[in-house]
Amino acid sequence: MIQPVAVIGAGPFGLSTAAHLRARGIPVRVFGEPMVSWRDHMPEGMLLKSTPAASNIDAPQRGHTLVDYCDAAGIPRLVTDEDIIPIETFLAYGEWFQQKLVPELERVRVVSVDRRQSGGFELKLDSGELFAARAVVVATGLSGLAHVPHELSGAAPDGPAPTGPVSHSSQHHDLTRFSGKDLLVVGAGQSALETAALAAEAGARVRVVSRGRGQVAFGAPPWRQPRLRPESPFGRAWSLWALSYYPHPYRFLPAQTRHYLVRRVLGPLGAWWLKNRFEGNVGVREVSRVVRASAPDGSLALTVQTHAGRMEELTADHLIAATGYRVDIAAMDFLGHELRTELAASRGAPRLGAGYVSSVPGLYFTGLPAAASYGPVMRFVCGTDFASPRLAKHLAAAHG
Ligand SMILES: Cc1cc2nc3c(=O)[nH]c(=O)nc-3n(C[C@H](O)[C@H](O)[C@H](O)COP(=O)(O)OP(=O)(O)OC[C@H]3O[C@@H](n4cnc5c(N)ncnc54)[C@H](O)[C@@H]3O)c2cc1C
Repeated sequence: MIQPVAVIGAGPFGLSTAAHLRARGIPVRVFGEPMVSWRDHMPEGMLLKSTPAASNIDAPQRGHTLVDYCDAAGIPRLVTDEDIIPIETFLAYGEWFQQKLVPELERVRVVSVDRRQSGGFELKLDSGELFAARAVVVATGLSGLAHVPHELSGAAPDGPAPTGPVSHSSQHHDLTRFSGKDLLVVGAGQSALETAALAAEAGARVRVVSRGRGQVAFGAPPWRQPRLRPESPFGRAWSLWALSYYPHPYRFLPAQTRHYLVRRVLGPLGAWWLKNRFEGNVGVREVSRVVRASAPDGSLALTVQTHAGRMEELTADHLIAATGYRVDIAAMDFLGHELRTELAASRGAPRLGAGYVSSVPGLYFTGLPAAASYGPVMRFVCGTDFASPRLAKHLAAAHG
């Protein structure tokens, strides 16, 4: 029997990769909950920061863009940079894409992946099934990679939780639970600023705590973008253009430069349309350092160092750490211990070669775990456009 390729993940990257592999006639088994990060780990009422042009899940055939979905669903087309995409629309688009192009998706978890002595991999599913795959694509996205800095985790010894004093932004779908409460949100990226605005709109008193000066900022609206710079899905700038359309040379840059760009380019900046909803409704506290969070009597105390060097304590009912995601192979516990120790990595992220293959032949990574090798575009849906055809081509040549 021909061994299939296993694709682990049914978010935009897993679905797009699976569609490309299927189009090449490669047998695939695809695992995961379709679009679960968007359904369960992002706030209700969220709007996408990416523009419609940057929000297509790449497919090998025509007819599967966001606009095609709008037409099929009979809703107004989302086309220009001024059209803002509600999360519900994007979620429905992803599910439509899955039903059309990856109908055989198996909604089960992969609990382990190990190498087989005879070649290829052995996978165990949470249904108890064991099976052999000739190659594995890891497209597990944000799952398990939520990052809470140690300064904040002191107030959550059992881990962050929406019902405890400290949570991570990915743990909230419904922010109305904070109505009438004092809330601190630590972070200055889009997720922090939009979570803060949505919580304030739901009736919470919200302060954003931001490290550094001038970090809370918003992008220019489309009609104020500079004209003399090239257009990219993220706005007009040479850096954005190069990172969007030419991520290939990225993996040859020195490690320090790559890690810096992943953090800074396309980094913290609120969407242009959020400014009016944020300003006047959410307080901002700029500090030089977040020292520690504690919860002596159940409520939350955050010690910060001010720019003048003083220590201050901010109190609230709850703190949301909107502190992002950190790729760490060690946290991908479904990968067998031997595989994890064997993988070449750079600061916890797998080091990938051409075609998104890791140092273990037959084991591929795409989406967020590929950002350290292919740049910040891999953190966004539009990264599927570059990644999926290349990964599928490499895999077909090596294992087809
Ligand atoms: C608040 C927020 C807002 C964002 N806004 C935007 C935006 O506007 N535009 C944009 O382009 N990007 C945005 N992003 C980034 C976006 O989430 C990612 O680009 C995208 O979801 C990554 O897709 P993915 O397929 O790699 O992973 P995910 O969407 O995270 O999907 C992971 C998949 O892996 C599966 N999985 C995990 N572990 C296992 C396992 N062991 N076995 C089986 N299946 C498993 C899950 O079930 C799921 O199907 C945002 C992110 C956040 C947090």
